[in-house]
This record gives sequence, structure tokens and C-alpha cells, in this order.
Amino acid sequence: MATKRDYYEVLGVNKNATDDEIKKAYRKLAKKYHPDANPDNKEEAEAKFKEVNEAYENLSDPQKRKMYDQFGANGPQGGFGQGGPFGNGGYYSYSSSGFDGFSDFGDLGDIFSTFFGGSFGGRRGAQRRNGPIKGSDLNVRMEITFEQSFTGVEKEIVITRDEECSHCKGTGAKPGTSPIKCPTCNGTGQVTQVQNTILGQMQTTRTCSACHGTGEIINNPCEVCNGKGTIRKQPKIKVKIPAGIDDNQTVVLRGEGEPGKKGGPKGDLYITVKVKRHSVFTRKGNNVLCEIPITITQASLGAELEIPMVDGSKEKYKIPEGTQTGSKFNIRNKGFKSINSNSVGDFIFTVIVQTPKRLSKEQRELLTQLAKTMNEQPPVKKRGLFG
Ligand SMILES: [Zn+2]
Ligand SMILES: [Zn+2]
Repeated sequence: MATKRDYYEVLGVNKNATDDEIKKAYRKLAKKYHPDANPDNKEEAEAKFKEVNEAYENLSDPQKRKMYDQFGANGPQGGFGQGGPFGNGGYYSYSSSGFDGFSDFGDLGDIFSTFFGGSFGGRRGAQRRNGPIKGSDLNVRMEITFEQSFTGVEKEIVITRDEECSHCKGTGAKPGTSPIKCPTCNGTGQVTQVQNTILGQMQTTRTCSACHGTGEIINNPCEVCNGKGTIRKQPKIKVKIPAGIDDNQTVVLRGEGEPGKKGGPKGDLYITVKVKRHSVFTRKGNNVLCEIPITITQASLGAELEIPMVDGSKEKYKIPEGTQTGSKFNIRNKGFKSINSNSVGDFIFTVIVQTPKRLSKEQRELLTQLAKTMNEQPPVKKRGLFG
């Protein structure tokens, strides 16, 4: 066996170092030489790591340190030899060694969490794993017409989700039988393993592989759901789409998503609404826009128009004589309801004067007569020339 290096030398402290200095030195070196932190030269790191641990194990304990100071590593009964308590893969136990080092290791929690994903001690991580888990949310899209977005609509959609198996009432066990407490984890859903590492004993908590974390074992699985307790279903869901909903807005149905786990609540159902384009109406904010074609005589003489509303009704609206093409008119409060407030948008229509493309003989004669009464010159430049 190779001669052991001096423990103080290993930790890089002097013989009069305080407990704090020893601990600090150890922390630094343990991090540096931890095998997980040295994937490229694991073996060498592991050897150093062992050495550092052995040194700390002896120097951090006042009694052992005193013995070591007096007798060296091969103390009176040789109790410190053979690679120390971590050597040869021996089972190391804090209590039987008399090494009251647990609290010291507790202080070193950050080393453990750095290398073992925070599972040291298990309790915190375990709670997170084992607690109730909310079911997943579901996202679906729904297409509605422009009119439906205006008036609101109740629609049925078919979604796919897990639902409680009615045959076994969600237990997963054959009716008449019930799941038993998992003997491997004693119903906790997780197994705490004590690993013997060169850092000493280490607790890691894992999801129980026997029951997959449920804490229960089903010996006679339900033949309908095969023991899952849930069945993939395609239920029809009634969805109330409120009046005024806009394209790409989302309606949420709480609790209509996937079932939760371990008593957790169900997920939610998010329905993103797609509003189809309309051939006549468009939407801007909460206003409805549309173009209304009128004849040249309506534009010239004025007219009472019947304007089609989005809800199918009609509104009478008087346009004045001499209405120009492109003029906008506003019918108040006939637009979309606001989803968030009591306000209502307007209905804004733009008149487009249609120039007739085909005229009857009579119309042509009348227009010709009309033309004679009007200035022969095109009126366009009048203002430019004389005004
Ligand atoms: Zn079942
Ligand atoms: Zn189990």
C-alpha cells in the first residue's frame, strides 16, 4: 500500500487550521475532484476525491483529529488505515462509525444538489413529484361564421381526452377487487435509496418502479381500461361563444382538459376561435364595415336605403341628395358588442355609386335629355379654371 499523504497536506491546510478552514478547504476540493465534474479523467479524480474525503472525515471530527495528530494515519489500532471508511466499497454508516458528520454534510447540501440534481435528502424533491398534478390543458380551434361572432353561438365540439373509466370508477382495478398498497414503496410512490459513495451515505429518492409512483399495485386490472383507470374518449363539449368575440380570441373552459394525477385538478380546454371572412361585412375594432352600392339617381336625388345588418335585420337610412361615392355613414350602436365592457360598436357603411353599364332605350333617352340640361363641359376642372 502506497504511503498515505498527510491529511493536512491533502486538504492544503496547516496543522493549526480551524474547523471552518478545514471545511472550506474540503468543500473546494470536493467540488473540484468530484468524479461527475471530471468526466474526462474520472479515475484520477475519483482517487483524489477519496483522498480528500478521507482527510476531511478524519480532520473534521475532533476526536479523530486528536488521534491522528497523536498517532498518524496508522493509529494505535490501525483504525484509520485501509483507505478509511470509504475504502473497498465498504458500507459506511454514520452512526456505527461514531462520526457525527451528518450535520456537516447537511451544510454541504449545495455540493449534493450540484451533482445530484437536488435530490439529496429527497424530501423536497419527493413532495414535488408525489403531490397532486394538474391535468394537461387542451387546445382546440373552432371555426365560426362572421354572424356567429356577432350574435354569439353555442356550439358542440368533439375533443379527444382521457376520462375516468366508468367500469372501474377510475381505480384501474377489476370491479370487486381493489388496488393494494404497493409493498415496494409502502404506498408512498417513491423509493428512498441509500447509496454508498465516496462522499459517504447518500439518500436519493426515486419514483417507485413497481407502481410507477401511484403507490398502488393492481393485481387484477380492469379489463376495460387495462388498469389505467382512464379511457381515451371523444366527448362532445358544448361551448358557448360570447357575442363580440373576434378572430383568434380564446375561450377557456376550466376543468375540461385532461384529468389530473394524484388528486390534482383537471386541466383546462382552450378554444381558439377562427372567424370566417364574410363576403359583405368586415370588422374593425367593434365596428362593422361594409360597402353599399347605390345608383346614380339615388346618389343624385337622395334616397332611403335599406341597409342589411349583420344579425339579418334591416335598418332604414336616408342618404341626402348629392351623395358622393365613397361617402361614409354611421349607424350608431349596430356594431359588435364588446366582450369586456358594455360598449357597442357602430355600423359604418360606405356608399359606392354604380355607373350603369347597360341602359334601356328609355333610360338612354332620359339620360340624354338630362345631359342637355347639364353643362357640356366636364365639371372636373371647373374649380381649377374659374374658382
Ligand atoms: Zn377501468
Ligand atoms: Zn410503489
